[in-house]
Amino acid sequence: MSGFSTDQVFKSREELMEWVRNTGRSLGYAIVTKRSKAKNGYVSKVVLMCDRGGVYKSDKDSSRETGTRKINCPFEMVGKFSKKNGSWTLKVKPGEHNHPPGEYMEGHPILKRLTPNEHQLVAELTGKCVFPKDILGVMKERDELSSAW
Ligand SMILES: [Zn+2]
Repeated sequence: MSGFSTDQVFKSREELMEWVRNTGRSLGYAIVTKRSKAKNGYVSKVVLMCDRGGVYKSDKDSSRETGTRKINCPFEMVGKFSKKNGSWTLKVKPGEHNHPPGEYMEGHPILKRLTPNEHQLVAELTGKCVFPKDILGVMKERDELSSAW
């Protein structure tokens, strides 16, 4: 289960997005808008995706600046406006996250000290569903000279 499944009805798109943000935060996933569809001047449908969705571009738009690592996560949700009910509903599409939740790594002080190569290692291990605490354990072993651990 994704944890995002809900029968909740939202009065507005803002309310829906707020719920998605809060739920994402508590689950450890960052959800972003993939695209939205406007009809007659107002948005009737919005597709949401995991911020790890899409394909990572390894060229000069380095992920180092934003800290975003795109690993083609298939997780998507669709918010739809029902004109009849005047409300929004949210449906989770088939497709689970291909990575563990990231909340433990988010803002972790160790990340600021990592070299680009180490960042890459974390990204790779995260993509293989290794838990962040295990990643840090592996890196600790690699880094025996550091006394800061
Ligand atoms: Zn994901």
